[in-house]
This record gives sequence, structure tokens and C-alpha cells, in this order.
Amino acid sequence: MKNVIILGSTGSIGTQTLQVIDKLEDYKVLAISCGKNIELVKKQIEKYSPKYVCTKDFEDAKILSEIYPKTKFFSKEEGLFELIKTQYDILVVATSGIVSVKTVLKAIENKKTIALANKETLVMAGDIVMKKAKEYNTPIIPIDSEHSAILQCINKVDNPYAKRLWITASGGPFLNNTREEMEKFSAKEALNHPRWNMGKKITVDCATLVNKGLEVIEAHHLYNFDYDRIKVVIHPESLVHSFVEFTDGSFLAQIGTPSMHIPIQYAITYPERKSGIKTDSFCPWGRQMNFFEPDFNKFPLLKLTIECGKTGGIMPAILNAANEIAVYKFLEGKINFLDIEKIIFKEIKSSKNIQNPTIEEIFEKDKEIRTRLSQI
Ligand code: MG
Repeated sequence: MKNVIILGSTGSIGTQTLQVIDKLEDYKVLAISCGKNIELVKKQIEKYSPKYVCTKDFEDAKILSEIYPKTKFFSKEEGLFELIKTQYDILVVATSGIVSVKTVLKAIENKKTIALANKETLVMAGDIVMKKAKEYNTPIIPIDSEHSAILQCINKVDNPYAKRLWITASGGPFLNNTREEMEKFSAKEALNHPRWNMGKKITVDCATLVNKGLEVIEAHHLYNFDYDRIKVVIHPESLVHSFVEFTDGSFLAQIGTPSMHIPIQYAITYPERKSGIKTDSFCPWGRQMNFFEPDFNKFPLLKLTIECGKTGGIMPAILNAANEIAVYKFLEGKINFLDIEKIIFKEIKSSKNIQNPTIEEIFEKDKEIRTRLSQI
């Protein structure tokens, strides 16, 4: 029996992870953590009887502990630290934002598999996280479909014959729109992703292509590839989830229906390939697949995000914080779509880099940017 902890159990990846576990024998939900969706977490407690639950707020933990006396409740970041002291086998990190970054860093010391869906962990602190994971020999298995595809193609991380990583991007909902048209789009239109069903923040990141830039940064850390060996390719059909180019000219691609169940299942059953959940199988008849170069002029944030990755230091964390605040302002209807990039460009231009920042320096910077940008 494998005991699983799911951080962020009520979010998009969290709920899909539970659906995967429903269909897998020998996997048990040991602990979950959630934010503010208490109604859903109640249902999850009743269905999975986790031994431990951590809520964002102390009050929620207190109320829930009266309803479910058999479950042990924790709250806040200290609560997450308690969860990773338990006897677990797999830690699924499906939180959004920065809430779990320090928990992941601590969890590395347990040498248990970390199935990682959270982007901020590697974007903000990729150097620190991967160095520590290597030191403790802790497997970090990506859940994101692109990085999962690369893992499935590359076999092992230091494959000396892998020449380049090609990360596919659907291009988002505005792929065929002009910038003049993009200026006028509302949150509703940005949230209308053509292929994937995801959380709101990441769906807007797909529309700006920031998401793809962040994935390049993650791939750089996960697979130890220089940035000039990682390419982005627009593939509107989202059937090829990424591919690896080898030194002999061969390409290996991973192909499948766009469903997060597949990479989630692969991550938690790795290195096996179990299949409890049945995703609509991919049928090749009559399918068309197109691939073309991204338009960096139309999507300047893609270029900027990759450049921040190349610069390294604290720049990816700065970009990440500015982006998150700008995206939430857009979702609230306070700014228009192209204002997202104006805010981020301004922030990056006025920022000074710190090379080899400590985790405290990264968090300090993150907080400073969020506080300042929230006020405008
Ligand atoms: Mg992705």
C-alpha cells in the first residue's frame, strides 16, 4: 500500500489526483491540505478518511476537528510541515502559488518521491531545490504534461544522447488574434482555453504564453539542460505533449489525448506505468498535427520569461510575483489583457538581480513585489 499526501487537494490537479487514486489499487490518501474550499474538503474527508488534514486557516481546522474527531487537523504552513513528518510514500504537490515551496524543500530530506505540479517551486527556487534533491537522492517527478512527456521520452535524466528538448504549446485562446484584438479581450475570453481544462490563473498564463516560458525554466532545472537546448514549438492540437531530439537526428514524442489524468497517473506510479483510470484513447485516423515557431513579437512575455530564466538569480521569482499579481488584477476586471505585460516589463526593468539568492531572499523579494503591486 502506498500512502499519498496531496497538497492542494481541492484544486484542479488535486481533484484529478483523487480521481486517479480512486481507480488505482494499493494507493491510499493519507493526508490532504486545502485552502478555502471547505465544502469540498468535507466531502473529501468523508470519502477518503485521511488521517491528517491541513487547512489554510486555523479557524477552519478548529471547526472541522469538531465535526471529524477521528482526523487530526493542522493549519497554515506549520501544518504542512507536520504533514510531511508522517509515514508517507508519495507527496503530490498540487498547490498553486508559493505556499508549499518551503514544505517541498523540507520534504526533500525525507527521500520520498515528490510528484510536482506546482510551478513556483522550480521557477522561484529551482537551483536550491534541485541541488538539494540531488544531495538527498530524492526523486522529483513532474506532473505537468510537457515535463512528463519529456521524462517519458528521455528515459533517464542524464541521457547523453539527448540533444534538445522541444516543449509544445497550444498557443492559447488568442493564437490567431491580433494584438489590437487582444487588447479588448476580457477574462471570460482568456479563460476559454481551446484544449485543456485548468485553473484560472494558469489559463490566463496560457493566453499570455508566460506559462510556456515558466515551463522552459522548469525544464532547465528538471533536466539540467542549458536554455539554448530548449525550444518552444506551437502545436495547436495539443496531441504531442513534448518531444526530445537525439544526437542521431531521431525525435521521440509522447502523444495522447489532452488529459491531466495521464501525467498524474504516470507521476504517482513512476517508474511503473499503471493504468487504473482510462482516458479516451488517442485515435490517429484523420488527425492533423501542426507545428510552428512561436511569434515572440505577438507574445513578448514568452521571450521575457525565458530571458529571466537565463539571467537566473532572483529574476524568475520577480517575474513570477509580478505576473501573479497582474493576472489576478486582470481576472478581477481591473486591468486589460495587455496591461499584464506592461506591469511585468516595468517591474523587470526596474529590478536589480541577486545571483545565488537564499530562499529567504527569494521570499522577501516576492513579498515586497506583491505588497507594492497590490496597491496600484
Ligand atoms: Mg503544461
